[in-house]
Amino acid sequence: MTTAAQQGANVYPPNAETVARAHVDADKYTKMYEASIKDSDAFWGEQGKRIDWIKPYSQVKDVSYNFGSVGINWYADGTLNVSANCLDRHLKARGDQTAIIWEPDDPNDAAQHITYAELHRRTCRMANILESMGVRKGDRVVIYLPMIPEAAYAMLACARIGAIHSIVFAGFSPDALAARVNGCDAKVVITADEAPRGGRKTALKSNADAALLHTKDSVKCLVVKRTGGQTTWVSGRDYDYNEMALEAGDYCAPAEMNAEDPLFILYTSGSTGQPKGVVHTTGGYLVYAAMTHEITFDYHDGDVYWCTADVGWVTGHSYIVYGPLANGATTLMFEGVPTYPDASRFWQVCEKHKVNQFYTAPTALRALMGQGNEWVEKCDLSDLRTLGTVGEPINPEAWNWYNDVVGGGRCPIVDTWWQTETGGHLMTPLPGAHAMKPGSAMKPFFGIEPVVLDPQSGVEINGNGVEGVLCIKDSWPGQMRTVWGDHERFEKTYFSDYKGYYFTGDGCRRDEDGDYWITGRVDDVINVSGHRMGTAEVESALVAHAAVAEAAVVGYPHEIKGQGIYCYVTLMNDREPSDDLLKELRVWVRTEIGPIASPDVIQWAPGLPKTRSGKIMRRILRKIAENDFGSLGDTSTLADPSVVEDLIENRAGK
Ligand code: ATP
Ligand code: MG
Repeated sequence: MTTAAQQGANVYPPNAETVARAHVDADKYTKMYEASIKDSDAFWGEQGKRIDWIKPYSQVKDVSYNFGSVGINWYADGTLNVSANCLDRHLKARGDQTAIIWEPDDPNDAAQHITYAELHRRTCRMANILESMGVRKGDRVVIYLPMIPEAAYAMLACARIGAIHSIVFAGFSPDALAARVNGCDAKVVITADEAPRGGRKTALKSNADAALLHTKDSVKCLVVKRTGGQTTWVSGRDYDYNEMALEAGDYCAPAEMNAEDPLFILYTSGSTGQPKGVVHTTGGYLVYAAMTHEITFDYHDGDVYWCTADVGWVTGHSYIVYGPLANGATTLMFEGVPTYPDASRFWQVCEKHKVNQFYTAPTALRALMGQGNEWVEKCDLSDLRTLGTVGEPINPEAWNWYNDVVGGGRCPIVDTWWQTETGGHLMTPLPGAHAMKPGSAMKPFFGIEPVVLDPQSGVEINGNGVEGVLCIKDSWPGQMRTVWGDHERFEKTYFSDYKGYYFTGDGCRRDEDGDYWITGRVDDVINVSGHRMGTAEVESALVAHAAVAEAAVVGYPHEIKGQGIYCYVTLMNDREPSDDLLKELRVWVRTEIGPIASPDVIQWAPGLPKTRSGKIMRRILRKIAENDFGSLGDTSTLADPSVVEDLIENRAGK
């Protein structure tokens, strides 16, 4: 089904200035894309040269998608070190260039500009500290830090000595932390005394103390001083980073790692179930992160690039740290939140540091859009060139606001579709190569062959104007290699439903022009009287109404239709729920999409259940709509449990 909005979708061709500057224009994209599919070994063999190898690879790809024996290897006989690629190789040409701009939570505190030389020194010291604590190649280190430069030092230090890091977002509870420490049998947890965020402080070290009660006694804790707040100290277990850094040597030789040695473990967001411990390896991941960072954002030497994600998510791994630093970029790290001290913070930071590329999530844009345009308009955003979004489908309404109000209509928006599992972008328009359509991820990146499958038969649906399950035909270097400690779960999750393909779990449509639209999770597809529809389009229709700030749509059992449409609607600050508005929204969706999409139930929702990375958890909303509160499933990554209680309490039609 195609919505009215999509049929008449506005198409925004790239402007001449963007095309002239871009690394990749339309012609080059077509040629490169064809080459990448036709002879992927030759293509990726060449791209592998983006990074420095200690021992060059002689083979490029060695992959099997056969269920029962899935194995993914890239550049397998090459050796390298990721931290040397992100640091040492830049020292000669850019030792004095800023590698990281750090913007603290409180705008009155000074920002830091950390040069490549300084970053190299700091990383080496951290690496020496970890070694002195007994960490060796292949050991696991859990990083539980705020968005401070030490988080980057810690990641790079692990990479330097060949330890495998597993970052746990600082907003997670002691239980979630303990589960992740035990899950990978970590030797060390790196944390800080406190994490300031939005003017409040989280007692990180206390959380770590609570978590460490449920782990092996041998786990050590390295503590970074951020605020100087009081912490309990367990001697023999706790190590003082700041004190040790004064003594630690300024150089640590990078370990020679195999391309397929694990670089990190990272858990997925937990939107659809229990989080999966995704394993990424060294060589292919870095090639893919570096290449996508440069081309998707059209990053050029000297630009200032800002990704607002947290390093606790894959976006922070690939697009705050590894991709940008491998490219010798200046990357901004922000400790705070978009609305502190007020709703103009993002834009003030852009103005202050003259940000050229800005990358954020739809959830932040929707929240800021609701606050009005004046917060944006009072800032000078003339340095912005590329805008990006990631994490969820972006509603056309939010896209238009981003384009008009933030980008002033000048900046291409890259709507990047990808996953923790994919290591980097799989689909996105490229700034100088593709037109944009609000809400569409448009085109596959180089080497990516998306296929649309019939959900029941698993047969490929060819041609345009089609919809189904999104799978990827072949491998790419940034692909995850396994689930930590559970290769069977890896094969079962991604390679068993549709044999011979990587199954993404997302649904998609290829429109009449051959452009791709993510329609939501396959689990979230609803079937109303035999019509299949993604939740994303009904949600976008609702959000397009002036009274609606956010919406989530799920199916529920319906006697006549099979499934009915249950909508949770959050209104704009200045609007009140009423029966009239309810009727108006029903008519609105019917007009926007068609009678088949007419909402059966609308529940007013002051808030929606979200993961800590800001994604709507529809599986919980489905349970509420189904009147099945007993088994809400894994809620460990839920940001605010009280939201769920409220929705149950006020369930519509109860
Ligand atoms: P889990 O796998 O544990 O359920 P998750 O899928 O939310 O959690 P992530 O890896 O953080 O974990 O998110 C990837 C998913 O986010 C994608 O599969 C897709 O559904 C959604 N997504 C990411 N970017 C986009 C985008 N640009 N457009 C639409 N959807 C997106
Ligand atoms: Mg997922």
